[in-house]
Amino acid sequence: MSDRVRAALAAALSADAVRAAEPHELVEPRGQWQGRAACVALPRSTAEVAAAVGVAARLRVPVVPYGGGTGLVGGQVMPDGVAPILLSLARMTAIRDVDPAGGTMTVEAGAILSDVQAAAAEAGRLFPLSLASEGSARIGGLLSTNAGGVNVLRYGTARELCLGVEAVLPDGSVMHGLRRLRKDNTGYDLRHLLIGAEGTLGVITAAVLRLYPRPARQGTALIAVRDPAAAVELLGRALAGEGVSAFELISGQGLRFLSETGVPVRQPFADPPAWSVLVELGLPEDADPDARLAAVFEAAVEDGLASDGVVAQSAAQRRDLWHLRETIPEANKRVGAIVSNDISLPIAAVPDFLTAADARIRAAGRFRINAFGHLGDGNLHYNVFPPEGVSKADIADRAADLREIVETEVAARAGSFSAEHGVGRLKVATLERYGDPARLAAMRAIKAALDPLGIMNPGAVLRAQGSGDAPAPQAVSR
Ligand SMILES: Cc1cc2nc3c(=O)[nH]c(=O)nc-3n(C[C@H](O)[C@H](O)[C@H](O)COP(=O)(O)OP(=O)(O)OC[C@H]3O[C@@H](n4cnc5c(N)ncnc54)[C@H](O)[C@@H]3O)c2cc1C
Repeated sequence: MSDRVRAALAAALSADAVRAAEPHELVEPRGQWQGRAACVALPRSTAEVAAAVGVAARLRVPVVPYGGGTGLVGGQVMPDGVAPILLSLARMTAIRDVDPAGGTMTVEAGAILSDVQAAAAEAGRLFPLSLASEGSARIGGLLSTNAGGVNVLRYGTARELCLGVEAVLPDGSVMHGLRRLRKDNTGYDLRHLLIGAEGTLGVITAAVLRLYPRPARQGTALIAVRDPAAAVELLGRALAGEGVSAFELISGQGLRFLSETGVPVRQPFADPPAWSVLVELGLPEDADPDARLAAVFEAAVEDGLASDGVVAQSAAQRRDLWHLRETIPEANKRVGAIVSNDISLPIAAVPDFLTAADARIRAAGRFRINAFGHLGDGNLHYNVFPPEGVSKADIADRAADLREIVETEVAARAGSFSAEHGVGRLKVATLERYGDPARLAAMRAIKAALDPLGIMNPGAVLRAQGSGDAPAPQAVSR
């Protein structure tokens, strides 16, 4: 079968647009899934993507759209079933147009996020999507997972940064949606169906993205806070003024993991505080972000919310503070979590959630918890690690109980079990358990209507038809 698929693709595209999958394309960042592929298709144009999808439909072969391979829920790797075509967008990287006055840019789906940011900067504008994987993640993957990152508080998720989408639908037809309109009420907005669909409804081939003015002056501070409730109070105070672009929560456990695992960072505090927040302001030329951060900090100290802090005095110090935050996932990976959770909650519920979940987990054993993330938009990465000296493999059987604790505490506060990473293959069963039944039925009906052959990334988001059990959730670390 694989030979037939490769030959048909070579005929429809070109011989050099088809190759065998490389090992790194069949695993994901946490190494929990081993994918399979009949081959990798590397189209150069939307027409070639359509031709590749047409071949898949004709031969009834699954298609797994593939961007930078940085997804954290296994959406880009297909471990079982008929070996799929891995449809890579790596050759479709053009920045087709930048329109600073109109505040838009049009890019192909294979463009890497850091290149898109650089092209916007060159035109004097900001494309504000920013996350630690920005040197590898591609626009198609970022839109398909509706990626978040550190600036959601101010600019929104990938969905809010996208005005138009061009995509190849599962029957091989091209949906031409590269519109630059802020207002367009002409029926169902299929752009928003494709965004966040994780490659299950079609292949995004290009997009129109929103640009913003670049903040003229930036200020960054790391502030040690009394507890998560103080962090939430500080967030409210910071948001009383303009220009807060990021507000990240960091736990003492996260800082200790960085030291323990030897990740090279500059620790600003001699003793890691139990909780700290990384705050970033982006303001116009005539404002003074450092003075504002200092004022917020001093008032917080006076009111007993904060005890210590540093305001970056240079671009290098600012980078160091961000490096600290952005390397926490690497330290987590080295320690090895039993379970990791990408959750979101109403912001006011965060302190209570942390108290309740921590208490139940500590009652279950001497586990270590690293909760950190985008407090400004209510998104936490809540990861549970084995006790010191115990390996994750030795207590892997506790994963289901720990996950249950976190998920039930999240559900009790009307939160989400997947804030920014998506459902992929990792959380199919969780979606079935916590998803609203009417919404799930509508999702299945949409999938069946757009992809009646079930070829588009089967098993991601929704259980593949006739596949039995969803893939078992696995222990992951981030
Ligand atoms: C160190 C690290 C930090 C991260 N930080 C964050 C973070 O802060 N916030 C966040 O939201 N995520 C984060 N992620 C997760 C990841 O970077 C995002 O999910 C990203 O959007 C995936 O983009 P990608 O191009 O790598 O997609 P891939 O991993 O290749 O694919 C992801 C999913 O999108 C589908 N897909 C890919 N391209 C297309 C396309 N053109 N059309 C249709 N479907 C497609 C795939 O089939 C798959 O289901 C992080 C990951 C790492 C490794």
